[in-house]
Amino acid sequence: MRFEGFAGNEEAKQLLSSFVDGGRIPHALLIEGPTGSGRKTFARLIARAAICTSSSEKPCGVCVPCIKSAGGNHPDIYEVADDGKTNPYKKGFVRDLRNNAYVIPNESHRRIIILPDMQRMEENAQNVLLKILEEPPEYLIFIITCENRSQLLATVQSRIIGVSIGQVENKVAAQIIRQILPDTDPDDAEQAATVFGGIIGQAVAGLSDGSYRNVLELAPEFALAVIKPDELELLRLTGKLEKGKDTADGVLNSLNIIFRDALVRRAGINEDLSYSPQAAEDLAASLTSEQLMKLMDAVESLKRARRQYVNHTLFQTLMCSRLRTAAGR
Ligand SMILES: [Zn+2]
Repeated sequence: MRFEGFAGNEEAKQLLSSFVDGGRIPHALLIEGPTGSGRKTFARLIARAAICTSSSEKPCGVCVPCIKSAGGNHPDIYEVADDGKTNPYKKGFVRDLRNNAYVIPNESHRRIIILPDMQRMEENAQNVLLKILEEPPEYLIFIITCENRSQLLATVQSRIIGVSIGQVENKVAAQIIRQILPDTDPDDAEQAATVFGGIIGQAVAGLSDGSYRNVLELAPEFALAVIKPDELELLRLTGKLEKGKDTADGVLNSLNIIFRDALVRRAGINEDLSYSPQAAEDLAASLTSEQLMKLMDAVESLKRARRQYVNHTLFQTLMCSRLRTAAGR
């Protein structure tokens, strides 16, 4: 298996390894996955594998092209600079794109262009990319990242090979979290991995900026607000979900665990409840199994809404109404 430096995501690594080993990397590859899943890291590893000169495992990490690319200065890899704040696809980008696509490789037999978070690219720029993809120079490979391919023009989607990355198994994720944040308590690392759905970057951010603790407090409150006679409490709580942070994802994952635990109790199974035992017991006492299953469906639909970029205010409204309806309130 290649790409061992990249945790989990075995299926994606397997597929990419087969492209690299066969020497046939598609002209446009899309790495899609949630924020914090390591899209850019993975894109860079693939770029490195594409220019690596090792005769065995690629990227080998020790050949000259690998070392140059790790240092960010291989002349045949062009990555659109992205500070995560300003849109990197503004003025001048289309000209840059054309210039870079038709530069003949310097040292390698390939030229790689990395386009991070391409959903931020305007339609006309996407169309220029499309034109290049219609008759790509033999040496050219685009590696594109975004959260979800539905964010791109349908015509672009039809010309790219998509690879999804995301959830890493909790135990593995916890190990990596502790490599990044060595002071983290092992239980917290594993719990954070669970709460943030195995997305390592989100868990690390949550542990660093306090949103992990916030989620631990908020999720049981949300669960109990669902069974209140009126919706005021739930409305108040949705107001606490911070815009632009992963608190909402964390709360949804945690609610799923609480609803599942409540379902376990309703089924008369006497196992330890994992997340917030008291909230789960209370829900089990006031909701039917059917309502609990509907709540779990509602959580899934809300996660989908998050992925489809429903705006924050609309998400808050949806969260209230879908959870209340599912609970028969
Ligand atoms: Zn190499």
